[in-house]
Amino acid sequence: MPYDIAIIGAGPAGCTLARLLDRSYRVLLLDKRDLSSEEYPGMSKCCGGLLAPDAQKMLGRMGMAVPASVLVDPQLFLVRTIDFDNQIERYYQRFYFNMDRLAFDQWLINSVPENVDIAQGCTFKSCTPSDNRIQFTFTYKGKPFTEKCRIIIGADGGHSLVRKSLFPNKGIQSEYVSVQEWFETKNSVPWYGAIFDKTITDFYSWTITKGNVLFIGSALKKNNLALDKFKMLKMKLRDNGLVYGAKILREGAFIMRPQKVSTIHTGNQNCALVGEAAGFISPSSAEGISYALKSAYYLSQALNEGVEGFQPRYRKLVSELYRNIRLKNLKCPAMYNPLLRGLILRSGLKATEVLF
Ligand SMILES: Cc1cc2nc3c(=O)[nH]c(=O)nc-3n(C[C@H](O)[C@H](O)[C@H](O)COP(=O)(O)OP(=O)(O)OC[C@H]3O[C@@H](n4cnc5c(N)ncnc54)[C@H](O)[C@@H]3O)c2cc1C
Repeated sequence: MPYDIAIIGAGPAGCTLARLLDRSYRVLLLDKRDLSSEEYPGMSKCCGGLLAPDAQKMLGRMGMAVPASVLVDPQLFLVRTIDFDNQIERYYQRFYFNMDRLAFDQWLINSVPENVDIAQGCTFKSCTPSDNRIQFTFTYKGKPFTEKCRIIIGADGGHSLVRKSLFPNKGIQSEYVSVQEWFETKNSVPWYGAIFDKTITDFYSWTITKGNVLFIGSALKKNNLALDKFKMLKMKLRDNGLVYGAKILREGAFIMRPQKVSTIHTGNQNCALVGEAAGFISPSSAEGISYALKSAYYLSQALNEGVEGFQPRYRKLVSELYRNIRLKNLKCPAMYNPLLRGLILRSGLKATEVLF
């Protein structure tokens, strides 16, 4: 019997949707990762693992209290802005939960109810519409499988294959690649470092401490200079006094930056895109977990009224996220134009509200 709903991707968006869908639906949640396996860090999503206030609020609204086992020290109440373009440093208050991203994803998948079939270690390959159904293929341990569903959900992140398969003209061209390296550290710095330097990137770079590990990351233009720019960033940070030890690992991911809301796509009557697959992510800070949670929550509301006409309902509900992304795009010049940013940081005005 075909599934009513097949969700591809068990990240924050896919797990939240699976948890909130009406139990009368026959639901499949499929992910290429096996979050129950001990293999670390191959299974972890490349991410800063900071839960921003909007995401904390959204989890609270859904009655989800983040367990202490997901958190890592130090908790972060301060952003240290290092503006190399203007040679200015400023601190401002902001309350993040500092998390182990893998533990967060494991907590979310463990909260999916038992009526949902969970297929981990299964890599989605393709899908095609057939007789008012969607036929899709995936592999498990190298073997191909085919399934059918009434509605397929692309919750497979910024590089969504569901989106590419069904909407080839609406593919996302990610202009940025993020490189993040983990280093041993004995210095637990209790702030989130946000670094601006136009010689490195027109987006931004970051440092985050997690226990005895320091993350240095950067969202870089996707070209063959990216790794050289990353090396330059590390040298500049060392010269600026950042102390860190041996490298543990390097990870990377494409990163979306929806500079126009026209890059956002929510799907059609047989397919819904949710979270980063739809293009929901902050264009100013690349914070994406709150958008994944919110869009999944709205999609569950639209689908729980019935599958007929769910797409217009979903679009209406996510109009709030479109507005929010438009607003963030409006503040990007203040954040990413060195001259304007310098003026704001020097003025000491509410930098928090303008930046991030
Ligand atoms: C370097 C970096 C740092 C970031 N830091 C932060 C941060 O600190 N805070 C924050 O809020 N946001 C951050 N983000 C953004 C955030 O990680 C994402 O926006 C968020 O995870 C999106 O959630 P999602 O559920 O839509 O997609 P994802 O979390 O990407 O989940 C997609 C899921 O789909 C699965 N999948 C993908 N392809 C397939 C396939 N073919 N078959 C089967 N399964 C598949 C993946 O395994 C994954 O489990 C960061 C992003 C990057 C790149």
